[in-house]
Amino acid sequence: MKRIGTIAIALAVCMLVAAPTFAAETKVRWNMAMTWNSTLTPFVNAPMKVAQLVSDMTGGNFVIKIDGAEKHKAPLEILDMVKGGQFEMGHSASYYWKGKDAVTTIFTTVPFGMNADEQNAWLYYGGGMQLMQKCYDKFGMYAFPGGNTGVQMGGWFRKEIKSLDDLKGLKMRIPGVAGEVFAKLGVNVTNIAPGELYTSLDRGVIDALEWVGPGMDIKMGFHKIAPYYYTGWHEPATDLQFLVNKKAFDSLPPEYKAALKVAMQIAATDMHYENFAMSADAWVTMKTEFPSIKVVTFPEPVLQAMKKATDEVLGEYAAKDPFFKEVMDSQQAFMKKARAWTKISEQYYLQESEKVVK
Ligand code: CA
Repeated sequence: MKRIGTIAIALAVCMLVAAPTFAAETKVRWNMAMTWNSTLTPFVNAPMKVAQLVSDMTGGNFVIKIDGAEKHKAPLEILDMVKGGQFEMGHSASYYWKGKDAVTTIFTTVPFGMNADEQNAWLYYGGGMQLMQKCYDKFGMYAFPGGNTGVQMGGWFRKEIKSLDDLKGLKMRIPGVAGEVFAKLGVNVTNIAPGELYTSLDRGVIDALEWVGPGMDIKMGFHKIAPYYYTGWHEPATDLQFLVNKKAFDSLPPEYKAALKVAMQIAATDMHYENFAMSADAWVTMKTEFPSIKVVTFPEPVLQAMKKATDEVLGEYAAKDPFFKEVMDSQQAFMKKARAWTKISEQYYLQESEKVVK
């Protein structure tokens, strides 16, 4: 009896030892570079959440170290650094690569384009992710959504924009297609790294800038110099981006690949909610603590000129590049049906409920 008991215990110990634990126990150490300084919440919370989740899901075996722009000093060169393999991953925004390939810009957002719900539906269920991947194949990397800001505010201006004439000669920081739109309307457009925005405005290098929305803008202090705060038109659903070096990703154990993909999607979704909450809080603070801020909308003739110039810019790129046209057509076709639903669901709800909910 005693012997049988001993054998049983020995068998159980053998089974425990042989039982499959976590299949991949390979130690992986990656580095991720961000366009943002390490303090720039909520943007930086997305990559930080990815690193935490990936470590948690792999028992601490897959570790991602994150460098902010204050460390690597190359905020607008993330694509090159991930492509070259200095960093296995990056967190940035696709429209910063417009100089390399114009089509990259329209994976971030398009003036007068889709809102965040519509754009996410296009990305995940309307073929958008496949098109984005087709675009990034040539850079030797994978691209994933990295957090959506929702509708961005139109920016901070020192003087009120009363007509198209007020735009002429204005020096403004505004990236992407919107920058080209403003250039067509006579604005001297520039792109400046996020960490240098306040200084550039303060020193008069620029007269106006757009950044994100109240949650991120108020703490930057732009309102102290440029009190006219315009409603949005140019970035209705700005998607940030995770870039992953293809060779590095392909060499990961399958469990790590799955962990990374899940972590990126959770982090991207979470950043969208966090930014929304921060903006809602900041909107209250702004009204009570900074009453000197003047919230304004662009006059309709200015908006009409912006729309016309947007169509021209997109049309010019589409005429030059069939792939740009393919992505643009895909976005516009999806937006057409998505907007019909948005109107009868969200818009109708907001408009009708406001009559009774005070
Ligand atoms: Ca922006």
